[in-house]
Amino acid sequence: MGSTPAAGDRVIVVGGGIGGLATAIGLRSAGLRVVVLERAKAFGEIGAGIQLGPNGFNALKTLGVMDRTLRNAVYIDRLVMMDGVSGEQVAEIPLGAPFRERFGNPYAVIHRADLHSALLDRCRSDPDVELDADAEVDGFAQDGSQVEVRTRDGRRFTGAGLIGADGVRSRIREAIVGDGPLKISGHVCYRAVLPTADMPDALRLNAAVLWAGPRTHFIHYPLRDRKLFNIVATFHSSRDAAELLDQPGDRDELMAHFHHLPTLPRSILEKSEGWRRWVLGDRDPVADWTKDRVTLLGDAAHPTYQYFAQGACMALEDAVCLMQEVRAVSGDLPRAFQRYQDRRITRTARIVLSSRALGKYWYHAEGIERLVRNDMLRSRTAEDFYSGLDWIYGYGRTA
Ligand SMILES: Cc1cc2nc3c(=O)[nH]c(=O)nc-3n(C[C@H](O)[C@H](O)[C@H](O)COP(=O)(O)OP(=O)(O)OC[C@H]3O[C@@H](n4cnc5c(N)ncnc54)[C@H](O)[C@@H]3O)c2cc1C
Repeated sequence: MGSTPAAGDRVIVVGGGIGGLATAIGLRSAGLRVVVLERAKAFGEIGAGIQLGPNGFNALKTLGVMDRTLRNAVYIDRLVMMDGVSGEQVAEIPLGAPFRERFGNPYAVIHRADLHSALLDRCRSDPDVELDADAEVDGFAQDGSQVEVRTRDGRRFTGAGLIGADGVRSRIREAIVGDGPLKISGHVCYRAVLPTADMPDALRLNAAVLWAGPRTHFIHYPLRDRKLFNIVATFHSSRDAAELLDQPGDRDELMAHFHHLPTLPRSILEKSEGWRRWVLGDRDPVADWTKDRVTLLGDAAHPTYQYFAQGACMALEDAVCLMQEVRAVSGDLPRAFQRYQDRRITRTARIVLSSRALGKYWYHAEGIERLVRNDMLRSRTAEDFYSGLDWIYGYGRTA
């Protein structure tokens, strides 16, 4: 069978983020050897916190890395939405026993480095995963039996297949989808951490709290034994996106967008140090991100706003799905990639489109829309929220 790699054939994964490393683990468990090529000088993760919904737990369980990842997880009690203008609570989703029973898993917040290093350690402990840092991929070619990848410094790698897990500005996507640059929305995001000792007493909550304001929102939740709080603030900006790429943040720019906040939550933004600034963007979902022996995964395939806190969870789910499909067709990669894509397209597109709507109508609502939002949310019960979130959190539920 020409298209079936012999046992031990290797696959090239471009990108050593959460998606790429999870993919390497999944492909190993499907019997393939893997090489991961990472552009950065060393494998690592930028940023602090990440929220992990029950569907993310399912993926980690299936990949066999759950216990290691969750050693420092904080199990928060609830998700809370506050009106960032009036300071009133408008919604609360309890995450206790009924939530866990309903979705088969808890909800946790973890440090990105803890998730990434659990995946990395697993890859490092496997002699059939080759990890190459400082290996920026700048092109590839494929024929009927293999793919050859070139790095910027002139190295060449061959494999039976190629997975582009190279993030929101994916080179691999450029070659096989070709839908131009990321769609920059004008939403800018600032991230920092604040020692718990500096959090106002009344807001030292074991919860992910979101302050929704006009064209802005910000979130805080505890991390690492509750010694830190992760702070993420997002606002609409008319500045040129090129000026705003990942770089140190400017507190004055940030505070100018949050003057509406009541004193207590505003003090969190005022006290936080070491802000980093990101430009946010996404892409219109596409119906095809696979070309024969090459496919995409994670943010390279379906970049989304972070508003459902699901981008990394989607990348983990992708990795599990790919593993299952490679197994199901005994390593016939073109077939496996097609089947993987068919299973993932609709779900990930729904996340992308729903995240846009969540930002626009709920998190960033202003004027009368803000009042309508509050009115609608106030009457919702926990059960209403659980039903509305079932399509996200119930995915891959295990007994
Ligand atoms: C503010 C914010 C908050 C978020 N919060 C959450 C959350 O709470 N929960 C959640 O599930 N998700 C969250 N996300 C989304 C999540 O961070 C991403 O979806 C996830 O990290 C994507 O992983 P990835 O591996 O696909 O891409 P990335 O993490 O971007 O990894 C891509 C890797 O590829 C490398 N690379 C790029 N180009 C090349 C090349 N040419 N050659 C070799 N290597 C290359 C990069 O250096 C990088 O290491 C959030 C995102 C943001 C911006």
